[in-house]
Amino acid sequence: MKSRTSRVFLFATIVLLTGTGMLAYEFFFVQVPKVGIVVGHWRNDSGATCEDGLREVDINMEIAQAVASRLKNVGYRVDLLSEFDTKLHGYHALALVSLHADSCLPGYTGFKVARGVHSIIPAADDALVDCIWDHYENATHLERDPLHVTIDMQEYHAFQTINPKTPSAIIELGYLAEDRELLNKHPGKTASGVVEGIRCFLERSAQRH
Ligand SMILES: [Zn+2]
Repeated sequence: MKSRTSRVFLFATIVLLTGTGMLAYEFFFVQVPKVGIVVGHWRNDSGATCEDGLREVDINMEIAQAVASRLKNVGYRVDLLSEFDTKLHGYHALALVSLHADSCLPGYTGFKVARGVHSIIPAADDALVDCIWDHYENATHLERDPLHVTIDMQEYHAFQTINPKTPSAIIELGYLAEDRELLNKHPGKTASGVVEGIRCFLERSAQRH
C-alpha cells in the first residue's frame, strides 16, 4: 500500500512538473503572433471631414476595432496604434497595416493600397498589398482606384519608422462622400476585407517558411 501511494505521488509529481514546464516553455519561447493596425489620424487630427461632421478618424477607428477583434478571434495578438504612436519606432510584427479613408469630394469612389517605395523587403510587402487588393475588393465590391495612389501613401511616415523587416501596407478604405454608406454603415464588410487580406498574406508567408 505504501509503495503504491508513493508511485501515485511520483506520477502526480511528474505530471505536475511536466505541465508546469510546458506552460513555462510556451510562455517564454512560443510567441503569440502579432499584427499591428494603425488607426489613421488617431490622437493626431481628424483626417478628412465632410460638411455634415463625418470624420475620417472615426471611420478608421470603427473599422480598426472590428479588424482587431476578428484577428484576435482567429488567434492573433493585435496592437491598435495611433497615427504617431511611440510604439511604431522599431515596431516588429508579422505585419503592419495602416487604415485610412479618403476625402469627402463628390465624384470619387474606390479604394487603394500601397507599400513603401523605399522598402527593403519589396517582395513581402507586395504580397501583403496584393492580398489586400484582392480580398478587400471581394468583401466590399468597391472598385480599385490605383491611379490615385499618392506619394504620401508610398512615403507614409510609419514605413520609415518601423523595423524595416516588418511587412507593411497602407490602405485608403474608400471615399467619405461616394462610399459613405459602405464606410459608415458596414464596418463588418470593410473589416472582413482587411482581415482576409492580412490572413491571406500570413498564410502565404507561413507556407514559405
Ligand atoms: Zn487619412
